[in-house]
Amino acid sequence: MHEVVWKNCLEYVKKRIPVQSYSTWFEPITPLKSEGNVLTIQVPSQFFYEWLEEHYVHLLKEAISLELGEGARLEYSVVVEKEKPATTNATSLRINKLNDRNATNSNGLNAAFIEDLKNENNLNPTYTFDNFIEGDCNRLGRSAGFAVAKKPGVTSFNPLMIYGGVGLGKTHLVQGIGNYIRSEDPTKKIIYVASEKFTNQFIDSLKNNNVQSFISYYRGVDILILDDVQFLRDKEKTQEIFFHIFNHLHQAGKQIVMTSDCAPKDLKGLQERLVSRFKWGLTADLQQPAFETRMAIIKRKIQEDGIYIPEEVIEYIAYTVDTNIRELEGVVVSLIAHASLMQVEVDLDLAKRVLKNIVKEIDSEVGIDYIQKTVSEYFHVGQEDLKAKTRKKEIVIARQVAMYFSKDYTNHSLKSIGYHFGGRDHSTVIHALQSVNDMMDTDSKFRYSVDELKKKLKMRTT
Ligand code: ADP
Ligand code: MG
Repeated sequence: MHEVVWKNCLEYVKKRIPVQSYSTWFEPITPLKSEGNVLTIQVPSQFFYEWLEEHYVHLLKEAISLELGEGARLEYSVVVEKEKPATTNATSLRINKLNDRNATNSNGLNAAFIEDLKNENNLNPTYTFDNFIEGDCNRLGRSAGFAVAKKPGVTSFNPLMIYGGVGLGKTHLVQGIGNYIRSEDPTKKIIYVASEKFTNQFIDSLKNNNVQSFISYYRGVDILILDDVQFLRDKEKTQEIFFHIFNHLHQAGKQIVMTSDCAPKDLKGLQERLVSRFKWGLTADLQQPAFETRMAIIKRKIQEDGIYIPEEVIEYIAYTVDTNIRELEGVVVSLIAHASLMQVEVDLDLAKRVLKNIVKEIDSEVGIDYIQKTVSEYFHVGQEDLKAKTRKKEIVIARQVAMYFSKDYTNHSLKSIGYHFGGRDHSTVIHALQSVNDMMDTDSKFRYSVDELKKKLKMRTT
């Protein structure tokens, strides 16, 4: 019954709004039940619900009134969104809002409950292997982490040390290990602790004269996950205590997992004996994700949120934000927030405007595409030739000049520039930059061309 009602409603809606809006906001809805004149539909997220209420409430009312008569009502059931730690201001704003609402959610899962779950062992259930996208950048770390999760304390990866820059997934990965172990064997005692917290707990225990209970608490765990050990830098006493806990756990065959923002050998201010122990097991680094991985991560994120973003926008974000994953997620959330505030749909124009505000140095006016267009016109070659294999001299020069400006005027990495020029690798780009610099030194006519182009491109920037 409710399925038929909903199907008819959809038909009504479909005729009245753009195809894109329809597939974004209506296709993901599932009808749940219809009782009397009330139809209940399930939407993928709170955000989704708010959007529908803001934009389509009248249309929906019309549609169901036709089906269920005057006074027909619509009720929503929101699929509960899991809490995630705030990443940017925009994210935390949105999450706070969601948490308020979650308290009244039909599933009865509320923020307080999630908080309780976390307090037990500080594991945040949203970080799992399932939602940790694999790429070349993290393959070793991920598979070592998974091996450890399956057999904690048994593999030779003890300790497991994951290192890498900010926002590249260290916390996610090691929390994923903890969550996996807990789901397999709830009796295992798993503690996740940030090094800063560990330090503070230790200092408190000194003050309160209960260092012993601090020590025995940590000695009693099966899996110790210590996040951001670089924080122990120059904290002699805390390092000392950790050294003893480490030895005890290791001898007892308990698993130790750590993260750090740099390789163990670069951990300045940590005692040598500690650092040398870190190297006993396996050390794996997380690197910046490649373009394809960034695409996959964005897709995963918007899928989780039940939101549609056009492919070209996803590509644009993935091209532009190549620093780290936290930033990438922040941009996506901010984009969605803007779209909802301004009551527009996410498109390329909006993405360009939003990214300009978020990612500073990015010059979204002069993009690689524009540079290629301007340069190829200037040299009378086809824009497509710049991406093609051809090695004709005039095309090679135009291509190199376009690469040179892409480096200067955009925020793209060498790798990303290469990608935009027919998938060439970053060493080709480096070579191009050198050639252009050399030619400018030796060939005044060439130099003049470059200056002319500079003027053209500058007109666009200012
Ligand atoms: P770090 O601890 O290295 O600073 P985090 O683990 O906090 O980084 O990751 C930052 C954000 O990026 C988190 O929201 C995390 O879920 C997300 N993230 C990182 N790596 C991945 C990945 N491989 N797949 C999906 N999300 C990721
Ligand atoms: Mg972290």
